[in-house]
Amino acid sequence: MLSYKHGVEEQLEKEVLQNLQTEKLKRQVDYVYRHSPMYAAKFDKAGFKPADIQTLDDLAKIPFTEKWEIRESQKDVFDLGSHQCADMEDVIRIHSSSGTTGKPTYVGITKRDSEVWTDIVSRVYYTAGVRPEHKVIFAMGLSFFVGGLPLKDGIERLGATFIPIGTGASERLVTTALSLKPDVLLCTPSYANYLADYIRSIDMDPKDLGIKLIGTGGEPGGGLPEVRQKIEQDWGARVFEAMGNADMAPVVFSECPDGNGMHFVAPDYVICELIDPDSGEVKPMEDGSSGELVYTAIDRECVPLLRFRTRDLITVKTGKCSCGRSSFRIRCIGRTDDMLIIRGVNVFPTAIKDVVSSLYPRTTGEIQIMLYQEGPAVEPPLHIKAEYAKETSPEALPASKKEVKDLLRAKLMFKANVELVPEATLPRFEMKSKYVEVTL
Ligand SMILES: [Zn+2]
Repeated sequence: MLSYKHGVEEQLEKEVLQNLQTEKLKRQVDYVYRHSPMYAAKFDKAGFKPADIQTLDDLAKIPFTEKWEIRESQKDVFDLGSHQCADMEDVIRIHSSSGTTGKPTYVGITKRDSEVWTDIVSRVYYTAGVRPEHKVIFAMGLSFFVGGLPLKDGIERLGATFIPIGTGASERLVTTALSLKPDVLLCTPSYANYLADYIRSIDMDPKDLGIKLIGTGGEPGGGLPEVRQKIEQDWGARVFEAMGNADMAPVVFSECPDGNGMHFVAPDYVICELIDPDSGEVKPMEDGSSGELVYTAIDRECVPLLRFRTRDLITVKTGKCSCGRSSFRIRCIGRTDDMLIIRGVNVFPTAIKDVVSSLYPRTTGEIQIMLYQEGPAVEPPLHIKAEYAKETSPEALPASKKEVKDLLRAKLMFKANVELVPEATLPRFEMKSKYVEVTL
């Protein structure tokens, strides 16, 4: 198996990489056509043949795969659906992708797929600065979630020490951290905030845990400047963000200590494309461009997906990074299915959270967006609940409210109806946050 060495020399020469990707893509497309009834039907319908792939540019000839097709493919079967390529006797584990909308889908892996994921995960955390001498507290789900057990495998492969706390165990986490003095905490950005609140509620300071590095993932947030700054300030630790996709690989992007976007670390396993989400046109992966991220597996046995539309909207950074890597970097700006359109302006709930977080510690950063009609197009003013800190005097509230409102107008260009609510009244989420509440 081809595997990068860890560290700055992990980049292959461009030409060597392209040749490898082309070979693997041809093999994957051919394999998928022969083993998946869903893809065979899709290819035939589009008049596409595996032999049509000669270069990487030919990838654009393959029709996109949408999430609903996977859901549809699994509807009436007892296994993984008509996009499954491997025999059940070769499948060693099944995960579930919860998805933000609709019924969960199941994701299987073979022994080989597990090897590939483990390799990618270890690269991701090495890129972030995790080393064999580090102890890693893991505070995300360890059951169905793809960001659970596969992360354990990758962190162990890296040689670091994995401490599986899971979710819903804040008290245990604190006790363990005080005894074992871990260096790294892996969790969702929501949980980093939740846990900091919990620790303060027992009259301790989050910094007492001595965590030096916090890896966030599972939801956007860790990459938002103000949200990140709040977590770093609370914990006295560096925050980095990693990202993947349940249907493709648990994590494939990670920030390095430079913290300027997430490096793509798996070009020998997955091909990324950038597309215009409306037209589906492929856009060049160049500095400053933005669009929807599309993944194609090129080394997958169980459920390989070709040109899978993630609904993640990203911006791209290129050019050599101070860490020595020359791979492209991304920031995820939101998801197309979370996006609100207010008088023609695109607004992401995470961007609203970022603006409100910038007023920390006067606000807690927690928000709730109240919708009284189905999105994405909504009429202003947008009703936003934001929490003020408990030290705030009642006289200061009108000024704070105006401050939030003016800042939203200046930064995100929409009119808000801001309602300030006392600290600790909005719901806290230990896993994925839900910022939007729809009442019809
Ligand atoms: Zn870097």
